[in-house]
Formats: sequence, C-alpha cells, structure tokens
Amino acid sequence: MPETLKKQMDQILENKGLGRPPRILLTAAECSPLAKTGGLADVVGSLPKYLRKMGFDARVMIPYHRIIKERYGDQVEYLFSFDIHMGWRTKFVGVNRLVLNKVTIWLIENEEYFGGPIYMSDREGEQYAFFTRAVLEALPQLDFIPDVIHCNDWHTGMLPLLLKTQYVYSPLGGTKTLLTIHNIAYQGLCKFDFVQDFLSIPDGCLGLMERYGMADFLKAGCVMADKVNTVSPSYAWEICTPEYGEGLDGVLSMRGDVGGIVNGIDQSVWNPGKDNSIPVKYTRSKMMGKVQCKTALLEAVGLEINPNRPLIGMVTRLVEQKGIELMMDAMDNLLNERDFAFVLLGNGERRYEDWFRGLEARHPGKVCAWIGYDDDLSHWIYAGCDFYLMPSRFEPCGISQLIAMAYGTLPIVRETGGLRDTVQAYNMFTGEGTGFSFANMDGGDMAYAIRRALDTYEDKDAMAQLMKQAMSVDSSCDKWAFDYGNLYLSMF
Ligand code: ADP
Repeated sequence: MPETLKKQMDQILENKGLGRPPRILLTAAECSPLAKTGGLADVVGSLPKYLRKMGFDARVMIPYHRIIKERYGDQVEYLFSFDIHMGWRTKFVGVNRLVLNKVTIWLIENEEYFGGPIYMSDREGEQYAFFTRAVLEALPQLDFIPDVIHCNDWHTGMLPLLLKTQYVYSPLGGTKTLLTIHNIAYQGLCKFDFVQDFLSIPDGCLGLMERYGMADFLKAGCVMADKVNTVSPSYAWEICTPEYGEGLDGVLSMRGDVGGIVNGIDQSVWNPGKDNSIPVKYTRSKMMGKVQCKTALLEAVGLEINPNRPLIGMVTRLVEQKGIELMMDAMDNLLNERDFAFVLLGNGERRYEDWFRGLEARHPGKVCAWIGYDDDLSHWIYAGCDFYLMPSRFEPCGISQLIAMAYGTLPIVRETGGLRDTVQAYNMFTGEGTGFSFANMDGGDMAYAIRRALDTYEDKDAMAQLMKQAMSVDSSCDKWAFDYGNLYLSMF
C-alpha cells in the first residue's frame, strides 16, 4: 500500500470522526477464489482485502455454493441457523464463516438453492431472492450492522428495495446501500407475481421493480439504492443512453449520480517481473525476456517460429459482446494482405468457435485458434504477443487490456466503456499513447487500427517507447480501493 494513499485515507477517516473503522459488507453471487464464473468474483474477492489495508472493516456475504463446500468445506466454521418466511413458505438458513486473507466471508447455506450450480438456470430469480432475504435476516444476528451494504449486479439488486420498504425500523434502518453494475445486460427478469409473493413486496411498491410485466431485480436496485455506480466512467454514461442502457437508461439518467470506478488488477498475479507461469520473466527496464516469451509461445501453439513477424493475441469468452463479427468481416483479408500472426485462446458460442477453427485452417502457420479455457496459456499470450485485440461491442470495464498493458503488449481496442477510459491511443506526432483504438462497430475501422499497429511495429523506437508507457499505467488495486473507500464515506 503506497504511504501517500494510506496517509490521505487516514486523514479522511479522522475528519469523518467515526471513532471506529467504517463497516462495509460486500454481497454478491460469487467471490474469487471460492466460486467464480466471471470478473464479478474477482472484484468481490480482492476489494475487501485492499479496503482492510485502508482501515475499513470490510466483510463479505455470499451463498455457500456446493463448489465451495467441496473445495473449502474443511476450513468452514458453522455458526448458527434459523428459519425465514418467504411468502407462505418456511425456508432454512445456515450461517457459516470462512476467513481468507484475514477477510471474514459469511456463507449462507441452503441445500435447495445452493446445493447445485452457482446459477440454477430455471430458478435463478427465486434462488437470489431467497439469498437477499437471508442476508438481511442474518446480519443483525451476527451483530454486524454495516454502514454500507455494497450490492453487486442483479443478484443482490433487490436488497435496497427490501431494506428501504421492510427494514426501516430494524437495526439495519440506518444502513446505506451501493449498487455496482458490472454488466447491465443481465437484469434477473423473473415472474412478477411470484416475486411479489415470495418477497412480500407491498402493493404500493410494485412499480419500483416492474418492467414489461416482469420483476426486474436490477431495476429495483437502480431505483432504490442510495448510490449506483459501475466499473468505468465511460460505461457509466453509456448505460444512461438507449443504445447501451438495456431499457434502464431512463431510470439511471433520472438519478443523475451514476459514476464509474475502473477495476484494478491484482499485481501479485499479473506482473511479468514476478510471474512464475511465463517462460522468462521481464520488467520495464529489462525487456529481453519478452522476446523469449514470444518464441516460446509461437512454438507452444504451433505457429511458424519467426519472432520478427508481429503477433496479435486474444484471450476471451466467445460471445457477442466481444465483437467477433468485426473479425469475421475483416480478418481473412487482413491476413492475406499483411504479414502477421494471430493467436486466440477462448471458448463460448459454437458459431464463433467454429469460425476461429476455420480461420486457422485457412491460414496455416499464421493463425492458432486454441478453443478452451487455460489459465497458464493466457499468461503466455499476454507475455508473448506484441499486440492484444479487443474489438468489443460494449465493455463495462475490461480487465484483459489492463493485463496486456502490464505485460507491454499493446492493446488494439474499440473505444467503448472501460476500453475508452484505460487505453490511450498512440499519437505518432507526440509519441504519447499506450495502444491503438477505433470508434465504430465496423470491420473496416478495426482493420485500419490493426494496420496502424502493424506499421508502428516497423518503427522499433516508437514500439519500445509505447511498451514502456503501457507498462507504466497504474492499474493497482490500492488506487481502486482508495476510490471505493471515498465513495462509501461520501454516503453516510
Ligand atoms: P469479461 O469479464 O467480460 O469476460 P474481462 O476482460 O473483464 O472480460 O476479463 C476476462 C478475464 O478472463 C481475463 O482475465 C482473461 O484473461 C480471462 N479469460 C477469458 N477467457 C479465457 C480463457 N479461455 N482462458 C483463460 N482465461 C480466460
């Protein structure tokens, strides 16, 4: 933790005059490393660690998923249990505790809802409506009354609505809520009558969660949370527009206070100077190792071993969000026209996987499509490539471009959401920049940006300077936690 940030926070805390560390509860469906399907888990897993270093009493509450029981069951301590009423039903709630990296994680147990997958495809709404109720009922019994409950995505979106309509005269009456939107495309739409009954929502409050005749968990949070934010400043204003708002733009615009804090990356994992999974370590001042990483990568993925030929990489879920259509439009022509190699590590929708397999077959020795999920190979790609391509349709924050920059691999991105906020386009006149970018959802525009990158590759001095600049970008978690700390404190 940099001394200056810590000192600044100490001063802010002293001015607040609380006389004790501020209490923050992070609640979500996932938390890394216990249960993870996406970036949400990384945020919930890392943020409390750094908040504690800042002087906050930050704790976590998530479901006790089967996968956690299987992997961590022997470290989990049972605390107590009770019953709750969900409409006319009575449900069991077990409360357990696990301490990881000095952070207390409370685990809500119920076999029916959390004995299977993290998301029960046909009963997700019911699963997380139950979880939300259990969180609010468990907290007073744990003797932990948070100053702020930090909700994340639709799964905990209903919590601010319940808190403000049903818990005003409870010990939680003074607790504030923050809702962070990690991806507005998922809103937890659910049968309206069921949710009303299951959560006993009063008639007068139904409009707070209704959309198209369904119950919308995320809308409830957007309307009722004391504060709503998201994971980058650009995404914050984008979701207030019809183009990106997925129907919630009006509600969010009306609030007028939606901000964005860019996620940090965990430098104990993503640091080419300390990364044990890459072939040779390197740093900003000793870059030789990066060339060796490139040669090793080319060999490992079966591409022609020509370290002088530019290599573009991608590590991604293969879903519409990631802008694969742009590549379908432009990559074949570009590969025929220019001398460069391309490596993809990814999996997801079958149509995209098949297209990448085809691209590999059409350009042998120049293209590798590695279909699957592989943590180690992802490190090799970040370290071994010259450029990293991310032509996303939308990108709330994006972590891959931050990792790529930390490894001196220059991102080529579409200017949207967190990509716009974190990658500074190369200015050939001033030498400033950390990557390349293009604006339109258009294959031609993307190809033009790739050509600019390939042209720059020929200028060794410009490349060296750009790589240094990219590696100097501060994506540390300390700065990230400091910004969240400030946000919490502004709420009470
Ligand atoms: P998103 O959260 O939308 O998937 P991000 O860029 O924010 O996109 O984060 C994706 C993270 O998942 C990165 O750390 C990336 O390296 C990792 N990842 C994605 N697909 C794979 C894969 N097939 N194999 C290994 N890691 C992957």
